[in-house]
Amino acid sequence: MKPVGILGGTFDPIHYGHLRLAEEMLELARLEQIRFIPAGNPPHRNSPGVSAQHRCEMVKLAIADRPAFLLDEREVRKQDKCYTVDTLKELRGELGNEQPICLLMGIDAFLQLHTWHEWERILDLAHIAVGYRPGFAFDTRSMEPTLHEQYQRRLCSVDRLAEKPSGGIIELSIPRLEISATMIRERISESRSIRYLLPEPVATYIHQHNLYKSC
Ligand code: ATP
Repeated sequence: MKPVGILGGTFDPIHYGHLRLAEEMLELARLEQIRFIPAGNPPHRNSPGVSAQHRCEMVKLAIADRPAFLLDEREVRKQDKCYTVDTLKELRGELGNEQPICLLMGIDAFLQLHTWHEWERILDLAHIAVGYRPGFAFDTRSMEPTLHEQYQRRLCSVDRLAEKPSGGIIELSIPRLEISATMIRERISESRSIRYLLPEPVATYIHQHNLYKSC
């Protein structure tokens, strides 16, 4: 059974760093599909710059021509703080106990995993695929000790992902695009160009709705 990929993020706004990560993961981890799940009120960071509705619209525009990419709005529909572990519990209920699920993240996010709510349960519910992100080397010595322990669940091959529903960690090397949403927001607030950092329809949407002008 091909794994279903999950990519959470603020997507404030979505950009080519996210999309390349997803595209590479789809291919390298041989995923069935990737669900983009924008965070509602993320527990780990300041509130997003623009509304959940705008962030979802931008994701929709960015993935419109890629049928294997889907927008999943479950987290933004919730009023309360929403943790990844709860989203994965829900998905596990919907997809069944056999379906491999693969939580996708950049290395920067993975190195902070031990700070996430009930993080050790995450591997009971899903695999984790870690993509190298610009500026972050995979230095295991800097890893928090309990995270380092879980890191021993590393799989030697992507083929293993399809054999079990959860429990493995796979590292995937992806092209390094020096793009972040923070950088895009800053550029907009300074009236600088954001062309080629994110899909054109998303840039047009941002300009039409006058987003991030005062970030
Ligand atoms: P911000 O700059 O606002 O912190 P961001 O650009 O880092 O945002 P997020 O929505 O926080 O984007 O990231 C969602 C996921 O995408 C994370 O797992 C992160 O590691 C990954 N990601 C973000 N940017 C890149 C990039 N340029 N290359 C690879 N992965 C990325």
